[in-house]
Amino acid sequence: MNPSVDISYPLEKFNLDTVNRVVKVSKTPGGKGLNVTRVLKQLNDEVVATGFIGGALGTDIQKKLLEKGIKNNFFEISGETRNCIAILHEGNQTEILEKGPTITKSESDNFLEHFEKLVKSKEIKIIAISGSLPDGLEINYYSKMIEICEKYKKSVVLDCSGKALLEVLKNEYKPKVIKPNTEELSQLIGKDVSKNPDELKKVLKDKLFEKIEWIIVSLGADGAFAKHNDKFYKVNVPNIKVVNPVGSGDSTVAGITSAIYENASDENLLRKANVLGMLNAMEKLTGFVNLENYDKLFNEVEILEI
Ligand code: ATP
Repeated sequence: MNPSVDISYPLEKFNLDTVNRVVKVSKTPGGKGLNVTRVLKQLNDEVVATGFIGGALGTDIQKKLLEKGIKNNFFEISGETRNCIAILHEGNQTEILEKGPTITKSESDNFLEHFEKLVKSKEIKIIAISGSLPDGLEINYYSKMIEICEKYKKSVVLDCSGKALLEVLKNEYKPKVIKPNTEELSQLIGKDVSKNPDELKKVLKDKLFEKIEWIIVSLGADGAFAKHNDKFYKVNVPNIKVVNPVGSGDSTVAGITSAIYENASDENLLRKANVLGMLNAMEKLTGFVNLENYDKLFNEVEILEI
């Protein structure tokens, strides 16, 4: 709902309080939702990106997505799409993230109509919703979107955190899947949650998660812990050479969405989700996966029902 043009400035040394000149600049469409979209496209899944877009940077995002053959159907707003800057220096990543535009009341209402038109289309089978809400939207906005999806019996994979997620969990309309990491889970239940499977099993039995079919807790290098209805799984992943793990969660969301679309078994869904997370972590670029290693990693993932 709050995409960005992500700018990367690689610098040998970042000098404060003076001029830094950058030679190799990259500017790519970013934000969690667009990372998910990009990975789905690389899997050859038919995908269309939507959300709020505005100003010259909004136009730039649409153009760049089309250049990559990614369909989009955004809703135009009066505000301007944001830039997010990552300065890569001396092995560090310093980020400067703009907050993004404020959505007006009429834009907020009209987007829901735009979204409903998309959701009711026969071509749309499943909806992945990722990231935080821009200013101006009510905290229950995702609940409203999920209500629309439920009206047309379309499943939702939701990856958000904090108050927006809590609001969804308290609401009557539920997503099919949520994918918190342990930090987001801790925030949700108000106490620190470790990666211990017994503890996670207990936490996921909490009333708060009732009626959510799949809860997939991603655990970084420790794989994942998942609950599907009454079944619990621990996913163990092999050691990999990590280059940049940013966006691995988004890549995992793409895998979950793609697997549900394919009616995959529990085991294959968990394998696909984790392999895509790993493949993203093995690349420099965010939301990019090299599928050459897919089959090998797919067979190396271990799924234990516990
Ligand atoms: P982000 O917010 O950066 O998108 P996240 O916290 O939502 O990430 P992670 O748990 O870090 O998500 O990663 C998602 C998945 O990617 C993990 O479940 C795992 O399968 C894979 N993964 C991530 N980091 C590693 C790693 N260092 N080694 C092996 N697999 C990894």
